[in-house]
Amino acid sequence: MNIEQFYPLFLQAGKVTIDSRKITENDIFFAFSGENFNAATLAEKAVDDGALAVIVELPEFENKGKNIFYVPSTLEFLQELAKYHRSKLTIPFIGLTGSNGKTTTKELIHAVLSEKLNVQYTFGNLNNHIGVPLTILSIKPEHEMAVIEMGANHQKEIEFLCTISQPDFGYITNFGKAHLEGFGGFEGVIKGKSELYDYLKSNSKTIIVNENDPIQAEKTQDYSPKITFGKTDSDYHFESFSKEHFVGLEYNGMKAVSRLTGDYNFTNLCVAASLGLHFGIGFEKIKHAVEQYTPTNMRSQVVKKENRTLVLDTYNANPSSMTASLNNFVTFEGTKTIIIGDMLELGAESEKEHKNILKLAQELNFDQIITVGKHFKATNLSNLSFEDTTSLIEYLKQNPIHSENILLKGSRGIALEKVIDFI
Ligand code: ATP
Ligand code: MG
Repeated sequence: MNIEQFYPLFLQAGKVTIDSRKITENDIFFAFSGENFNAATLAEKAVDDGALAVIVELPEFENKGKNIFYVPSTLEFLQELAKYHRSKLTIPFIGLTGSNGKTTTKELIHAVLSEKLNVQYTFGNLNNHIGVPLTILSIKPEHEMAVIEMGANHQKEIEFLCTISQPDFGYITNFGKAHLEGFGGFEGVIKGKSELYDYLKSNSKTIIVNENDPIQAEKTQDYSPKITFGKTDSDYHFESFSKEHFVGLEYNGMKAVSRLTGDYNFTNLCVAASLGLHFGIGFEKIKHAVEQYTPTNMRSQVVKKENRTLVLDTYNANPSSMTASLNNFVTFEGTKTIIIGDMLELGAESEKEHKNILKLAQELNFDQIITVGKHFKATNLSNLSFEDTTSLIEYLKQNPIHSENILLKGSRGIALEKVIDFI
């Protein structure tokens, strides 16, 4: 069965899902065969649940009828269908990648553009070879704009995702030290992320550039079309300020205070505001969006707990975001404890990067430094280091933290949020 034949059926569908528990009437279900799933049973059940169509890669379903369609690869069919749907859509697509800050930037762009337009955007962090197609397939005729987060941990991934999402505008949040293992070092990160620029350039699409980022500036130097911010002579210029740890941005004398902490969020806010202005949204409305948006997702979240300030940044960590986080936290007034978890997936750089972070933490003179995870422990540079959150929790039960400010930051695998209830 080919995509063109199938497309009219897709257009009649409610939603597309790969999760059999979420099927409701009129949905299209993509049955992935995996070790733990019996795709055949799921496919039959989906039909019983009222699915409009079921895509399955088991040859036994060839010509079975009952709205069940056999394809050689469910994944490829999902990706091809998304690509085809995208090619039929005429709304602007904004594509985002980068080492850190994609989700935050995506949420902020969505908040700002939603002041005027009906924007569809990546749910949560669904930014990979399955998430990107699913996001695109959720775009309906009423949508006026799409914001697509694209993640990668090795070369050619962004190139591939661009062939599906075909962005009209693209932004790389930053080139940082993340997924060094998969990319083959920092040069590899730059190359891999720049696949977004390669796509935009070869299709004459618009690049959004933070002119304060030397790599971005250099890579887009003589390119147009672009939308720039960062310098006083950029297309859009914002000044930063902070108010009680929250990042603010000022534009032509008008001020907006976000609910985000950390200098790096100033850049994230600038992109969203620049795009807002570009699409004709006045700063009053941008201010409204920026002031309403509250992170709830353990990314740079500031929480008050019994007269203390907790900074929860437990969603993920790598050397760049860890450095940014520590430099931000040190500006908090009062005593400070940092609880930092291992930065995973760093490959050969791991030992050096963990040592560097601990040295930085010591230089910044935090009142107390606690580490969680084997990598930090192995550096022997911290006298309060724990293998995992369980052993830290046991320690905290006997030795409560007294600092007025506490930062929690670590990789997803360390799950530092488990500690919150014991602080
Ligand atoms: P993932 O790779 O998991 O999808 P992401 O790129 O979507 O991550 P976010 O989830 O938005 O990134 O943010 C993760 C963390 O990165 C934040 O909590 C913050 O510490 C840091 N961060 C956010 N924005 C930036 C930025 N512009 N530059 C550097 N670090 C940032
Ligand atoms: Mg993300």
